[in-house]
Amino acid sequence: MLIKVLGSAAGGGFPQANCSCRNCADVRLGRSGLRPRTQSSLAVSPDGQAWVLLNASPDLRQQIAATAALAPKLDRGPRGSPIQAVVLTNGDVDHVAGLLSLREGFAFTLYATQRVLDALAGNSIFDVLDTHLVPRVPLVTAEPIELVNVGSPLGLAIEAFPVPGKVALYLEDAAAGRGLGTREGDTIGLRIRAPASGASFFYVPGCAAIDAALAQRLRGARLVLFDGTLYSDDELVVQGLSNKTGTRMGHIAMSGPQGSIAALQDLNMQRRIFVHMNNSNPVLREDSPERAEVERAGWEVAFDGMEISL
Ligand SMILES: [Zn+2]
Repeated sequence: MLIKVLGSAAGGGFPQANCSCRNCADVRLGRSGLRPRTQSSLAVSPDGQAWVLLNASPDLRQQIAATAALAPKLDRGPRGSPIQAVVLTNGDVDHVAGLLSLREGFAFTLYATQRVLDALAGNSIFDVLDTHLVPRVPLVTAEPIELVNVGSPLGLAIEAFPVPGKVALYLEDAAAGRGLGTREGDTIGLRIRAPASGASFFYVPGCAAIDAALAQRLRGARLVLFDGTLYSDDELVVQGLSNKTGTRMGHIAMSGPQGSIAALQDLNMQRRIFVHMNNSNPVLREDSPERAEVERAGWEVAFDGMEISL
């Protein structure tokens, strides 16, 4: 199984178009030790031929252009693409807006929870995806399914599981008060498996907290790609970028006693990689003490173009 990190940044990308924080300013200047990153997406393939996107970011067109394996192949016809399916982990703009770049006659299968499919159905702009070409298949948690496109199996199986998260910002219901209207199915994690080889990994790009069920599920995993949005829960507030904490945004911080590094440290995971870093995150500076700290704890920090073979 092949995994490519198409985009390793959170919503807004790195640098973010309207941001002059220290990270964004320095990466814009081309300072050493920082590299630009596009918004959150992975591509996965059992064989290097058919590819499945895990989330579709607003930068998808650029990401496809930067990835030779995703270039159209003539043996798929004059308008054929190796992209055969898209799986969404939530309805956030940084994970769904790229669907609009797959409207020019792409034929792929779209998988998401019913909650997320309902959100797409409620936004008529997504009707540009003709349902005859792009069937929408609901993912039911705890029911693994084999991914297919136009009746053909793609050689990958997906199991969706609920993770503590938050409904997409544009769906937050002020009247709901507590929990912002969030319900199960708003945010999922994925276990992706290639039945032919038995290889599998976990992808959890958005997660508000690590509960016992999630920890148990990840125990002993060969590879986990996990939400690395923030290093500190209050870093956006401290840097004067926003009044929202990670807790408020539905993203667990890396550091601290409640953070992901501590919560996942004794689970015997073979390889762990942070994805979905916000531009405020100090680990984006390769020479920062925070970067050294996460690496000392056994974590890697994903970058655009990172390739993993399982
Ligand atoms: Zn910034």
